[in-house]
Amino acid sequence: MKAAVLEELNKIVIKDIPKPVIEKGGMLVKVKACAVCGSDIRIFHYGNPRVKTPQVIGHEVAGDVVEAGAEVKAFSVGDRVAIGADVPCGSCVFCRNGMGNNCRINYAIGYQFQGGFAEYIPLNATTVKYGPVHKIPSGLSYEEAALAEPLACCINGLELSQVKLGDSVVVIGAGPIGCMLVIMAKVMGAKKVMIAQRSKKRLELARSTPADVVISTTEEDLVKRVMEETEGRGADVVMVACASPEAQEDAIRIVANRGRVNYFGGLPKGTRNISIDSNIIHYKEAYIHGSHGSIPRQHKTALDIIASGKIKIKDMISRRFPLDRTLDAFAAVENREGMKVIVENP
Ligand SMILES: [Zn+2]
Ligand SMILES: [Zn+2]
Repeated sequence: MKAAVLEELNKIVIKDIPKPVIEKGGMLVKVKACAVCGSDIRIFHYGNPRVKTPQVIGHEVAGDVVEAGAEVKAFSVGDRVAIGADVPCGSCVFCRNGMGNNCRINYAIGYQFQGGFAEYIPLNATTVKYGPVHKIPSGLSYEEAALAEPLACCINGLELSQVKLGDSVVVIGAGPIGCMLVIMAKVMGAKKVMIAQRSKKRLELARSTPADVVISTTEEDLVKRVMEETEGRGADVVMVACASPEAQEDAIRIVANRGRVNYFGGLPKGTRNISIDSNIIHYKEAYIHGSHGSIPRQHKTALDIIASGKIKIKDMISRRFPLDRTLDAFAAVENREGMKVIVENP
């Protein structure tokens, strides 16, 4: 089968590799769409301790089940399925308590397990049994279904931030994830959603979202503007969806008393530690927390929300490339011009 193989850092080769053999509890899925994630770009250039080369990466996947092992009960050949990233091991204390994204082993599609930039993706028994694998609701295209993965991560962050009816929410960072957070926060009942962005290119993306307020942080002071927009209270929820220590520090300044700050994006290794006046947290009674990845339930919810039509996820897809041009797809993401880029196998 054809695959885009990450052979070493900065080297992806489109080549033929043996078609995977599946386990009794596993399945083989013909990949129809695999969206490129910011983390794919990071793995491509900087690697990841959980990715051993050669490996096929890509974890925002949708396709058709073409083989199902004898022990597979929940799926059959011909099913259209969406596949997410984090695969709970099913047996550690975190997985047993519904926190599979915090699993001790932390398996993931496109990391330890083969990913979706290939003609076929094998799913092992653990993935089929415990992982984010769900049938695609009818009426949903493969490319829309592939985007259930990043949307699930947004749902995880917003659930942990307890976004609720009437909240004011600030999202810092207008990449594809920041834009999805805006859309999802609205669906969850936030009254006023603000998005803040530094670079000009992405301000255009910010303006394409249903955000009530778009803040260009090169042109105006983030803290001042958020205070004006919230009658001096600060925002109930602040989601930091960019890799910036300054943004993480600002978040604590703009959050309301009893508000919630979510560090959605991690900081690259080697970034300075953030410096915060903990008295602000003390007097505001603020909650500072993080989120990463998602659990299978959230992947299913994301699919259902997209299928409901509440979120026009298709509008977020800016470019499509065939598997042969996976590297061009990566370049399109790195140029940061569009939203989501899809590698497809028609
Ligand atoms: Zn992703
Ligand atoms: Zn586990």
